[in-house]
Amino acid sequence: MEICAREHPPFLTGVKRVTAGVLATAMLVTLTATTGASQAAAQSDPRAARSDALGVALFGASPGTSGVSLPSSGGSAAEAPPRVDCRRVKCVALTFDDGPGRYTDTLLRHLAKYQARATFFVVGSNVVTYPRVLRRTVAAGHEIGNHTWSHPLLTRLPASRVRSQIARTDRAVKAVAGVVPHLVRPPYGAFNRAVRRQISRPLVLWSVDTLDWRYRNSATVARRALRSVRPGSIILFHDIHRTTVGAMPRVLKTLAQRGYHFVTVTELFGGRPPHVAFRAAPPKKS
Ligand SMILES: [Zn+2]
Repeated sequence: MEICAREHPPFLTGVKRVTAGVLATAMLVTLTATTGASQAAAQSDPRAARSDALGVALFGASPGTSGVSLPSSGGSAAEAPPRVDCRRVKCVALTFDDGPGRYTDTLLRHLAKYQARATFFVVGSNVVTYPRVLRRTVAAGHEIGNHTWSHPLLTRLPASRVRSQIARTDRAVKAVAGVVPHLVRPPYGAFNRAVRRQISRPLVLWSVDTLDWRYRNSATVARRALRSVRPGSIILFHDIHRTTVGAMPRVLKTLAQRGYHFVTVTELFGGRPPHVAFRAAPPKKS
C-alpha cells in the first residue's frame, strides 16, 4: 500500500513500515491471497488490490453495519440520507486532499457537470487562505474531511499536538463554512494506535492511489484511476495539482459510462463509515 499523499521528504520512507505494522501485515498478505476480486485487481495494480482486500475483509461484509457514533454538531450535506444505495448500485468515492487551492473551483465545475459528489480532505492552513473556495465546495454538496492543520506526520507528534492539529482545522472549517468535518484522513495515510486514540472519528484511507503528486500528467493520472477502480473504491487525488484537475473530465466521463455513481465517503458507507476505511464492499448481485 502506498502511504504517501504528496511529495514526501526522504524520512518518510520509514512510514511504510510504521503503518504496515499498525494494519497487521499478516492479515493483509492473507487477504490478498484469498479475495477473488483482489486477484483480478492484482493483475493491474497489486498495491491497490492489497488495500482493497484489506478493506473488504475488515469492513466490507455489509456497508453501514460497523457502527461509529458520528458527532451530531455541525454537519454537511453528507448528513442527509444517502441519495443512492451503494449496496445495490456501483459507487465510487472520489477524494481530494491538501486543498482548498487555486484549482479547486475548476474541479467543482467538472464535478457539477456530472452531478458528482466528492469528499475534500482539507488542510486547515489552506482553509483560511481560500475560505470562499471552501464555502463553494460545501454549498455544492460535497463532504469535507479534516486533513490536519499543517500536514504533519501524526505518528511523530505527542498526543496533545495530534489533537490540536485536528481541532484547529475543525474550528477553521466551522468558522468559514459552518460545518464540522466528520471524517479524518491522516497525512501520508500514517497512523498508529496512539494517533487513533486521539481521533474518535473515522480515519479514511484509500484503495486506489493515483500518485498524482508524482505523475504531473493528466492522461497518466486518469489512466491510473481508471485501471484500478472497483465498485466501492475510494480514490485518492490532490486538487492542489492542475494536472489532477485536468484529469477529471476523463475520469468522470469514463466512470459515468461504466455506470458508477459518484458519492461522498459517508454515502459510500451508507451514512456510517467504519473506524478505519479503505473501501466499501461492492454491491450485492441481485
Ligand atoms: Zn495530504
